Amino acid sequence: MSTDCLFCRIVEGAVPATVVHETDIVLAFRDIDPQSPTHVLVIPKEHHPDAASMAAADPALAGHLLAVTGEVAKLEGVDASGYRLVFNTGADANQTVFHVHCHVLAGRHLSWPPG
Ligand code: AMP
Ligand code: ZN
Repeated sequence: MSTDCLFCRIVEGAVPATVVHETDIVLAFRDIDPQSPTHVLVIPKEHHPDAASMAAADPALAGHLLAVTGEVAKLEGVDASGYRLVFNTGADANQTVFHVHCHVLAGRHLSWPPG
């Protein structure tokens, strides 16, 4: 746990969030600045700075988090229409919160390649 980490504070309940799904080790909540009709962030409750460090430290957690993204897609009703999973990692990818989070984006056509 990192007390100056925004997403650790959401896990603690110190910062409010609109939670859409939760397991004992993962939390899914709506992005505060949605980029598509469905925009959910899926995070581990334990602090890891990015996807690679989470996968290296705890592969089972990384697998569980990926499985939860699929559950979120079903709950949001976008599993059939399609969705995009994004782990921004580092400066060139515009990672702004250094607590790993998977963006689940859906509900409109998502252009490719990304800008
Ligand atoms: P990234 O650029 O990949 O690090 O994404 C960080 C995401 O966190 C952005 O999409 C923000 O809109 C989102 N975000 C920042 N603060 C909050 C918050 N308090 N609750 C929900 N989402 C947030
Ligand atoms: Zn954190």
